[in-house]
Amino acid sequence: AKDKGRNAFQFYTSDMNLAVEQRLTVERELRVALKNGQFELYYQPVIDLTTGKMVAAEALVRWNHPTRGLVLPGEFIPAAEDSGLIVPLGKWVLKTACYQARLIQKSMHRKFSVSVNLSARQLNDPSFLTNLDRVLEVTSLPPESLVLEVTESTLMEDSENVIPRLEKLRLKGCSLAIDDFGTGYSSLSYLKRLPINSLKVDRSFVKDLPDDEEDRAITSLIVAMANSLHYKVVVEGVETDQQHRFLSDCGCHFGQGFLYSRPLPADHLMAMLFDDVAP
Ligand code: C2E
Ligand code: CA
Ligand code: CA
Ligand code: CA
Repeated sequence: AKDKGRNAFQFYTSDMNLAVEQRLTVERELRVALKNGQFELYYQPVIDLTTGKMVAAEALVRWNHPTRGLVLPGEFIPAAEDSGLIVPLGKWVLKTACYQARLIQKSMHRKFSVSVNLSARQLNDPSFLTNLDRVLEVTSLPPESLVLEVTESTLMEDSENVIPRLEKLRLKGCSLAIDDFGTGYSSLSYLKRLPINSLKVDRSFVKDLPDDEEDRAITSLIVAMANSLHYKVVVEGVETDQQHRFLSDCGCHFGQGFLYSRPLPADHLMAMLFDDVAP
């Protein structure tokens, strides 16, 4: 029994070592990836549900891994957050998204906004606001064309310091969206204190529409509330015509999802925008 206990313990530690080792490998690889330019931004269009036209796009990071191919953020953002590498990666994402959005505005002579996802670590980074100023300055992207997306859980993590920071972002002229809305526990009274412009309704409420009675009630309630509080609402994860119809009947103005477009590399996004304007 003693022996077995010891083996079990060894098994446990080697398991732990494996996990730690894997994490260290990912971190090492992420550092190389940053240095060697292996990250790429894809853009998912945000659609005006009444006109069907693209009004903005959300930047979503991808990793062109030398052996594994295209890696989705779910597989490396957590490691980047834990290691703090999300700070330099996030800086790269922000400047690239602003630069590409400005290129689109200049080449198409049209309005275009870009959304960028922010992690708690980035928002808490002391250099965040000065870096944002620099990026807006060098890319000459009007601050009104930049939407920063923060999840409900990020807001709850450090609500004391987070609100003044968000207010500063708003004073600069950037917009602020709450991402994955409805999945956290923020109360409506808390929401009222936040300087936000828009809500992004989480995909989990949309996926069983229009059949699920509860999801119907929840989404129509969120849309009605947001409309009367004058927040812009974007519904995420629209995949079917029936979902589209239900949401637009609810009074929802904007949507994102595979029905309209998957996230696209920048040149594909440009081509899609060009098709919109070209004779
Ligand atoms: P998110 O911000 O909620 O982004 C939406 C995710 O839903 C994207 O996954 C998108 O591809 C996916 N999606 C969009 N429409 C549909 C649909 O109709 N059906 C389904 N099934 N999925 C849809 P993606 O690109 O894998 O990103 C996952 C998450 O990774 C993002 O969730 C965001 O939290 C995080 N992320 C992505 N890029 C960044 C970044 O640059 N910085 C930070 N901090 N996080 C990022
Ligand atoms: Ca998002
Ligand atoms: Ca989301
Ligand atoms: Ca999400």
